Amino acid sequence: MSGIDRRKFLTIAGLSAAAAIGRKTLGQTPSSSASDWARLPEENPLTAHRWAMVVDLKKCREEGDCTKCIEACHLAHNVPRFDNPKDEIKWIWKEEYESAFPMQEHHFVQKDLNRQHVLVFCNHCDNPPCVRVCPTKSTWRRDDGIVMMDMHRCIGCRYCVAACPYGSRSFNWRDPRPFIEKATADFPTRSRGVVEKCNFCAERLSRGQLPACVEACEAGALTFGDLEDPDSPVRELLSRNFTIRRKPNLGTQPEVYYIV
Ligand code: SF4
Repeated sequence: MSGIDRRKFLTIAGLSAAAAIGRKTLGQTPSSSASDWARLPEENPLTAHRWAMVVDLKKCREEGDCTKCIEACHLAHNVPRFDNPKDEIKWIWKEEYESAFPMQEHHFVQKDLNRQHVLVFCNHCDNPPCVRVCPTKSTWRRDDGIVMMDMHRCIGCRYCVAACPYGSRSFNWRDPRPFIEKATADFPTRSRGVVEKCNFCAERLSRGQLPACVEACEAGALTFGDLEDPDSPVRELLSRNFTIRRKPNLGTQPEVYYIV
């Protein structure tokens, strides 16, 4: 780190600490942060050595424009709906095959796959560049592979947004709270100026529940499980199907697999 970089970093870290102290002094710190629940031990949590997701695009194709998983996720996490796409907050969304899998498309990919809008979200990478660049450690990788985000520690520098090669992180340019259609008390709301993203439903896992998207998918296109357990449903699918991952050449080691 150069002298200038170090000075910048110390300034950012100092401002962050001062802001946190200021919030406490003013009594504005909520009783639990957006990640506290994920650190608390629960009675019957679902646990794994390495969580991973398999998306079966064949099953998604059969369901056409189904968005039940997206709706369930956004409802479970108080994701706001903005009219202007530039303000959009995305945890899970659909992208054209070409843009989801650049360099893996070609003329002879079956037509229906080439035209498909593919479900995408944070890949909970084994080697996450977003975590490396965060100056306040508000994003980190848990031992079970989930890449977490503490919105209360986030200073809104957006280094992680720039570092993620998948566009999996969104920044709250506006106060999201008035734009939440149906708020739930099960997950904290956020404020303007922080980054957020999919958390593999860490809060639900801690309560013994599968991710909301997995539960909502009636077609069984989403499978979640322990990659290190040879008997897990994800391992079973991976052993029986050819799968691809997003931008594997970047070395981020995404842990979301796609059956094409
Ligand atoms: Fe980080 Fe992006 Fe990988 Fe998610 S997909 S862990 S945000 S680099």
